[in-house]
Amino acid sequence: MENKLLSLVIPVYFEQEVLEESFDRMDAAMKSTGHPYEIIYVNDGSRDDTMKILRKIAKEHDYVKVRSFSRNFGHQLAVTCGMDAAKGDALIIIDVDLQDPPELIPKMVEMWKEGVDVVYGQRQKREGETIFKKLTAAAYYRLLKWMSAYPIPLDTGDFRLLDRKVADCFLKMREQARFLRGMSAWMGFEAKPIGYVRQERAAGKTKYTLKKMLKLAFDGITGFSSKPLTIAGKFGLGLCVLSGMGLIALIVLACTCGVAPWLWALDGLVLVQGLTLCFLGIQGMYMGRIYDEVKGRPLYIVAEELNMESK
Ligand code: UDP
Ligand code: MG
Repeated sequence: MENKLLSLVIPVYFEQEVLEESFDRMDAAMKSTGHPYEIIYVNDGSRDDTMKILRKIAKEHDYVKVRSFSRNFGHQLAVTCGMDAAKGDALIIIDVDLQDPPELIPKMVEMWKEGVDVVYGQRQKREGETIFKKLTAAAYYRLLKWMSAYPIPLDTGDFRLLDRKVADCFLKMREQARFLRGMSAWMGFEAKPIGYVRQERAAGKTKYTLKKMLKLAFDGITGFSSKPLTIAGKFGLGLCVLSGMGLIALIVLACTCGVAPWLWALDGLVLVQGLTLCFLGIQGMYMGRIYDEVKGRPLYIVAEELNMESK
């Protein structure tokens, strides 16, 4: 077990201010695990001195590997690219900016050695982030939990350790819009949290612009929930029931004291609108199925097999 290889995967985008300090702390944390390790940086199209610094670090340390994108493809694809290159028996994904403390890595590795397949960082507190970010993040994770068909743990980011077999399953999923923490939850396996206080960025500014944040949030919901596709249908069904009740009330009223003709028209309008939305919902259900097929995820994932050697 002690000689099992660990891979640290780090996406990097315009991070010249933090890169060197970050490498020192990550390197020390990896060293303290006592395992052989590799560190894989993926430069996600930075145009500052990021590559210059990475070239220097890679020159001085042969276990540091670097892949550099031709342009900015986004954080989730940078992580995927690093994972594609990783050779380790366990992969650890971490942000370069030291918001996720690298000092937690040895503890994650210990948990992995005790048999946990996925160890994910769970933020108990966020330091140095704006009220806007804290509130939107908290609201989003709760919305996602409600929407998602799979339990995505609250307040978790991409800081996590994945056993090789989990990483291999993850890499079989080649969908374009990627949401790592959701995919990790979708895959299942034995997953345990490790609590931590999310630190302030060591240097530099956040690279997640509002636009990028919204895209990730959207990918998270659309990738793991068909609820948005069926909401219209549910609403339409509600309208149909409402117009049905209205019709009964109108008939009763017509038999007793008479009703204004426009009330019939209004009820008819609600019914037609309700039916239209119902059909939209039905279409949504089919679209959801097509979407699931197109994603081409594995049909199932086997975590363990007994007495199943090939004949
Ligand atoms: N990042 C990336 N590509 C991007 C945006 C960010 O590779 O387009 C990297 C970034 O360098 C960092 C990690 O993803 O290692 C998280 O980004 P950031 O710290 O800016 O996001 P925040 O923590 O503010 O949500
Ligand atoms: Mg950050």
